Amino acid sequence: MKIIMLGAPGAGKGTQAKMIAEQYKIPHISTGDIFRANIKNNTELGQEAKSYMDKGQLVPDELTVKILLDRVAQDDCANGYVLDGFPRTIPQAEVLEQELNKLNDKIDYAINVEVPDENIVKRMSGRRACLNCGATYHIEHIPPKQEGICDKCGEKLVLRDDDKEETVKNRLNVYHEQTQPLIDFYTARGVLKTVDGTVDMKEVFKAITSILG
Ligand code: ADP
Ligand code: AMP
Repeated sequence: MKIIMLGAPGAGKGTQAKMIAEQYKIPHISTGDIFRANIKNNTELGQEAKSYMDKGQLVPDELTVKILLDRVAQDDCANGYVLDGFPRTIPQAEVLEQELNKLNDKIDYAINVEVPDENIVKRMSGRRACLNCGATYHIEHIPPKQEGICDKCGEKLVLRDDDKEETVKNRLNVYHEQTQPLIDFYTARGVLKTVDGTVDMKEVFKAITSILG
């Protein structure tokens, strides 16, 4: 099963993608996580990506597409995957579609997690991330057992550099301009499913599993 998560930054794509990955035993692939791992390891790719991410801009398609195609070509993706944060532009979606076409394959579901902009800024300021294992928490809604410490790996949790209020506003603009058109793109392919992302994360997951079966 090949799934794409769509939605504004902070809509809960990553939270749901991790639960889907566990339940359906497919890899969770987040381009944002791949970039953050590269930033942490101070690679050339990380340095280039950071210059865009810190401003709330998208990393150029050319770079992002290459990373994603390399990742989905790995053996663990043979039975499918859940993509979180990719595609974010129409050209990215077109390249993915062309590559899948070559393999006589396609995306099965594009899950659109809908959350109004008003809720997003609050969510992002409360998000805490583990840069070691990729786990995500929210200080009010989904707190870790011990404040500031990752439940899964024990590392310190951080407020992401791009979750500051001004950057979040830029990211929302970028979302509306460049990513939202993907809703029409996947509607036209008959695979778009929209869920309400404002309810409790377990309720959102229930809605998603009733779609995926
Ligand atoms: P995205 O991957 O779309 O950027 P995340 O999954 O990281 O979003 O979620 C953004 C923030 O909102 C995180 O702090 C997360 O813990 C929190 N969150 C996710 N889902 C919900 C929900 N259903 N209700 C409240 N908070 C949520
Ligand atoms: P995320 O973790 O999905 O919120 O992504 C964090 C940041 O990484 C984004 O604001 C972009 O700067 C960059 N990024 C992640 N995925 C993509 C993508 N598919 N295309 C371009 N930039 C991306």
